[in-house]
Amino acid sequence: MKKCLSVFLSILMLLSVCAVSVSAADECQHSYTGTYVAPTCVDDGYFLYVCSNCGDNYKVTENAPAALGHNFGEWYVIDNAECIYEGHEKRDCARCGASDIKTIPVLGHIDDNSNGKCDRCNEPMKSETTFAPFDWLMALFQAIIQFFKDIFA
Ligand SMILES: [Zn+2]
Ligand SMILES: [Zn+2]
Ligand SMILES: [Zn+2]
Repeated sequence: MKKCLSVFLSILMLLSVCAVSVSAADECQHSYTGTYVAPTCVDDGYFLYVCSNCGDNYKVTENAPAALGHNFGEWYVIDNAECIYEGHEKRDCARCGASDIKTIPVLGHIDDNSNGKCDRCNEPMKSETTFAPFDWLMALFQAIIQFFKDIFA
């Protein structure tokens, strides 16, 4: 019985809230004030009209500037690429502080003095880097060409 009563009361409350909100909207002689909201990097600008009596509002995007887009500065290195690690560069938007990151490719070991060690990081050069599968294929290909040259010569 008690439960029934509380359900009945909550329905009654719901109905009264509806009635109040409907009548408020009906009675309001809207008085809108427009405010210009400037565009940001990612959002378009707009005019926001708010009724000072009931708070009803709407946006008008016509004749307002579109989103500006980020104003990125120059790229700067945040960590350098190394023989086996990629590096990163970053640039920041001067307007909103958003940032953009791009990777710097791995440098790979170099051995210009041919001592079997990387000139940069001193790691031993691995044999597969000097005998890559592509080189192996090229060698095979050239051997085949030579073979036919020998036959038709
Ligand atoms: Zn109003
Ligand atoms: Zn920005
Ligand atoms: Zn290295």
